[in-house]
Amino acid sequence: MALAQQKPDPIARRDPAAVNAVIAALAAKFGNRLVTSQAVREQHANTTTWIANEPPDAVIFPQAAPDVQDIVRICAERRVPVIPFGTGTSLEGHVNAPYGGVSIDFRDMKRVLAVNSQDLDCVVEPGITRKELNEHLRDQGLFFPIDPGADASIGGMAATRCSGTNAVRYGTMKDNVPRRRAMPRLRRSSSGCRWRASNCSTSCR
Ligand SMILES: Cc1cc2nc3c(=O)[nH]c(=O)nc-3n(C[C@H](O)[C@H](O)[C@H](O)COP(=O)(O)OP(=O)(O)OC[C@H]3O[C@@H](n4cnc5c(N)ncnc54)[C@H](O)[C@@H]3O)c2cc1C
Repeated sequence: MALAQQKPDPIARRDPAAVNAVIAALAAKFGNRLVTSQAVREQHANTTTWIANEPPDAVIFPQAAPDVQDIVRICAERRVPVIPFGTGTSLEGHVNAPYGGVSIDFRDMKRVLAVNSQDLDCVVEPGITRKELNEHLRDQGLFFPIDPGADASIGGMAATRCSGTNAVRYGTMKDNVPRRRAMPRLRRSSSGCRWRASNCSTSCR
């Protein structure tokens, strides 16, 4: 009987050498925008429900898309996981790091890059929250309709395909995100998203 070949674990499971090398490389490049304190790491794992808190090995705060590309490249070279972090309001342990890794907190990437009021859409960085975006859009008579209750980030809302109290009239995130830009090598993350930010109920794309 043929024996099944055991496949190597694609993710380094808390390989201390890999994690230390990644932390050293990130610290050299990003200085104090890399944080390894226990308290900050725990704040970047699940804190909202009974699900156990599984903190990452480090937390990093990029300020622009090229930072994210560098972080992902450095982590991918050592097969260390990355976990994007919006505002941490997700309820099912999404931001936990069961295999360790680096939490990428998008709090410093909140820019509104364009508002195309004629087309009823806008381009934003993923860290902006829905309330911040609505504050920005208010004087143009536009609004971003998805409301899950929490003041979540647009990136986190896209990742969870969020809905909420306005979904029956305006749809969910899948109806309101015509485009997103993802980092190379990073399956779950985005560095900028294009949104339909209006009160129109569009067809699905
Ligand atoms: C009181 C309350 C009520 C809620 N009601 C609803 C509801 O009615 N309907 C509903 O659908 N949801 C609801 N939710 C859940 C809500 O959708 C999520 O909490 C929210 O979408 C997560 O956004 P966040 O910015 O906090 O993301 P986080 O919690 O930080 O992250 C969530 C996931 O997104 C990933 N992520 C974050 N940022 C990025 C990024 N830039 N690129 C790629 N991936 C990213 C994370 O890795 C993680 O997997 C509710 C939550 C709360 C607390």
